[in-house]
Parts: sequence; C-alpha cells; structure tokens
Amino acid sequence: MKIVETIQEVRQEIGRARKVGQSVGFIPTMGFLHEGHVSLIKAARKKHDMIIVSIFVNPLQFGPNEDLERYPRDFKRDEQIAKEAGTDLIFYPTVSEMYPEKMPMTIQVTKGVEVLCGASRPGHFDGVATVVMKLLQIVQPDEAFFGQKDAQQLAVIINMVDAFNIPVAINACPTIREEDGLAKSSRNVYLTEEERLEAPFLYKTLKYGANLIHSGNHNRTKIIKELTERLQIGSGKLDYIDVLKYPSLEQAEEISGQIILAVAYHYKNARLIDNYIVEA
Ligand code: AMP
Repeated sequence: MKIVETIQEVRQEIGRARKVGQSVGFIPTMGFLHEGHVSLIKAARKKHDMIIVSIFVNPLQFGPNEDLERYPRDFKRDEQIAKEAGTDLIFYPTVSEMYPEKMPMTIQVTKGVEVLCGASRPGHFDGVATVVMKLLQIVQPDEAFFGQKDAQQLAVIINMVDAFNIPVAINACPTIREEDGLAKSSRNVYLTEEERLEAPFLYKTLKYGANLIHSGNHNRTKIIKELTERLQIGSGKLDYIDVLKYPSLEQAEEISGQIILAVAYHYKNARLIDNYIVEA
C-alpha cells in the first residue's frame, strides 16, 4: 500500500493503473477509520482493481463553533486499518494541498438541505459537495463508495453527480453498527462511559418509529411527537428528529412510500446522527 500527499502523485499512480486497464474504486473519508469505513473499502475491493482511500478532515464543512480542531485523528492507526481492508493507495493531503488559496468558488447546494443537518449546520453540505467534487476530479474513479449512515450527504452527492454529469457511479453502502445498535462513528470516542451506554437508544427510537409506521401510523406530526417524547429520557440534547420522504427529503403530513426517520443528538463532546429507512 502506498501513501501519497500530493495531487500530482495521486494522478501519477492512477495514470499507471489506467494504462494497464485497471478500474478504480474510491472511498473518501475524514480518517479515524472504523468498521464502517472498512465495509466501504471491502465493497470496493470486491469490484475494482485499484482501491484509493482519501483521508482529509475538510475545514470547509465545519461551522465556526464545530469540532474541526477536536476531530479525532490517528494516521498510523488508519494506515494499518486501510491496509488490512485491502487499500492500494491512501491519499493524505494537507489543507494547503487541497486549498492552496481561499476557494475562488464553491458549490452551493440548493436542494435537499433545508431540513435535517442542512438546517442545523448551515453551509455544511456546500463544504461537503465542494470537497467531494475536488476529490472526484483528482481521482476520477469508476465508482465512489459512501455510507447510508450519512443519508443526507449521500443524497446531496447523488444530486451533484447528476447535476454536473460527473462520470462516476455512486455506491451506497449500509450502516455498520456496534452490537448494541449504535452506528459506528469516528465521533463515538468522545462519548463518556455513561453516554456510550445510553447512545443506542437513538437507534432503538428510530426502530420504534419504523414499527409505528408499519403498524399503520402515517401522520408525520404524531410520529415526531411520540419519538421526541421517547428521546426526552436522554442526558444530551436533541438536535432534530424528522420523518421525511426518501430520497427526496420532502415533507408530507401523511406519509407513504419510502420514508427516512433521521435523528441528530448532541452529547457533551459529540454530535451523533443516525437514520432508518422504511416503507410506509
Ligand atoms: P467520514 O470519515 O465520517 O467522513 O465517513 C466517510 C464515509 O464512511 C462516508 O461515506 C460515511 O457515510 C461512511 N461511514 C461512516 N460511518 C459509517 C458506518 N457506521 N457505516 C457505514 N458507512 C459509514
């Protein structure tokens, strides 16, 4: 496995692979890798000749009071995990390699961001779309792999690829969870012992919501009210719980078809998100 820090080196490495007809699978990450990331790398490994993982904590997608400085980092550990999962090349750029100057333009996401994390993290998805656009231009993979865990991010990227006719396939991979149901996340290390014990209640609440829908409750306001009440037992602070059409993320008072139940919850040092997709 090779590690490169510059765009020029990535291009050279990919150029070599392309010359001998290899296909390229790409997994963009912010590092501090866990089994969620590993599942994406393995899915790519099954389908492609050359597997590229990028590790870059993208400043553009963090708001002024968010956890950019505190975001967990451990490159040596990531290197080991990526290698064992079957990565061929890690692209590990510095901020100045990715942004040598203030971006003279960025992508403004105008669809699907007035709700969920788009509403509580203004500008976040503009930053995500901008960095993913850059990474896709640098790597030019055949297929890029993303987790369903970040469902709104996935929807934004699918829309971006469609809107800009980017020649890449997007592969959506299922959420990998701890045994007790908590979605794996790099931010879980910032939970206290008590918070870690409590946190699986988020997934349980989403599943409870799915059961409500399955048993015939189709009123969005009522479902949100009931789930909000259940979340009151937590020691943190609810950011949002919502019930929307999926993948359009549109609101409907009486739900039908594919529905996403999505939650964001603040603990002291970690904001967690999770979601569950059901058929109403
Ligand atoms: P991140 O490093 O958090 O930016 O995530 C990089 C990629 O891994 C994104 O496509 C995420 O959706 C995906 N990912 C993060 N956590 C999980 C998980 N628990 N299961 C599956 N994919 C995940």
